Amino acid sequence: MKKVLITGAAGFLGSHLCDRFISEGYKVMGMDNFITGDKKNLRHLESNPNFEFIEHDVTQFIKIEGELDYILHFASPASPIDYLKIPIQTLKVGSLGTHNLLGLAKAKKARILIASTSEVYGDPLVHPQSEDYYGNVNTIGPRGVYDEAKRFQESITMAYHRFHGLETRIVRIFNTYGPRMRLNDGRVIPAFMGQALRGEDLTVFGDGMQTRSFCYVDDQVEGIYRLLLSDYAYPVNIGNPNEITIKDFAEEIIKLTGTAQKVVYKDLPVDDPMQRRPDITLAKKLLGWEPKTERAEGMKITFDYFKSLSKEELYKRDH
Ligand code: NAD
Ligand code: UDP
Repeated sequence: MKKVLITGAAGFLGSHLCDRFISEGYKVMGMDNFITGDKKNLRHLESNPNFEFIEHDVTQFIKIEGELDYILHFASPASPIDYLKIPIQTLKVGSLGTHNLLGLAKAKKARILIASTSEVYGDPLVHPQSEDYYGNVNTIGPRGVYDEAKRFQESITMAYHRFHGLETRIVRIFNTYGPRMRLNDGRVIPAFMGQALRGEDLTVFGDGMQTRSFCYVDDQVEGIYRLLLSDYAYPVNIGNPNEITIKDFAEEIIKLTGTAQKVVYKDLPVDDPMQRRPDITLAKKLLGWEPKTERAEGMKITFDYFKSLSKEELYKRDH
């Protein structure tokens, strides 16, 4: 059986990746320090003989006994309010954490895939964003801690590839959603759905004319899986090109949830990108991949998940 280490395993994407690799017949080792993740995302795997969990902060030296075939480095705060709250940890997990994992991959002769992001394009001046766009990032703005950590992560990964001949893969993930997102992580989908469930108005930031393109988690995981098994070392965008303004999206959520509440407008956060849509030509050509889940379908599954949470979770505030 091939063995894969997944960091950030107790988080949203990491836990779905654990499920996928187990269902493909891998032995999975999950690693997390729970800084933004939750034990309950892995509870269903606790008694699975092919799953093992290690509680560890990946910015500290990582010691693993035995062989490893693949590493997927997904540990990192991913929501703007998380990385604004823990900026130093965000910089460290993208830099020191990635360095540790690249070192581990080299020692184990394992292939490593790192989770990069559409945020490397910053507030993009090119639309849609293709992999050859270098981006427009404010290095010293509040979001810079995440964006620059991820840009450094890409650079050090390519350096290990070029200098040490390490087998590396880089996925640039665009806004992805689905069950197991943290209801109070501040990202727009859990924020709107939580507000609808609590009977609060939906908070649109700015005038709501900024756009995002939302990808359902199963599609994202399929793209990541294919990229890992491909032989392509350069960054690949994985996301859904179906773009919508945040204002229209709030109206969609109002219809979906049946809430009687309305939209209210709040200040736009600093450096909030005005537009974002992936150009997925490369993923289509290279991996034969494209998203399959319509937003209406994915949102319904996600809303059903949030509806199933306890009252305590619905009213819990981290921020
Ligand atoms: P998440 O917050 O749900 O999961 C991240 C996990 O990493 C958490 O369980 C957290 O506890 C863990 N973690 C953070 N720092 C750690 C450390 N130092 N040591 C060990 N574990 C640590 O976020 P997510 O949405 O699942 O994102 C996962 C990855 O995908 C991140 O690297 C993120 O940057 C990337 N990404 C996600 C999206 C998205 O839309 N979800 C978009 C672009 C990139
Ligand atoms: N947003 C909003 N209301 C909220 C949360 C977010 O209008 O309660 C906006 C946010 O300003 C951004 C978009 O929704 O323009 C997506 O935000 P998110 O934090 O989900 O992800 P981002 O793509 O900005 O990292």
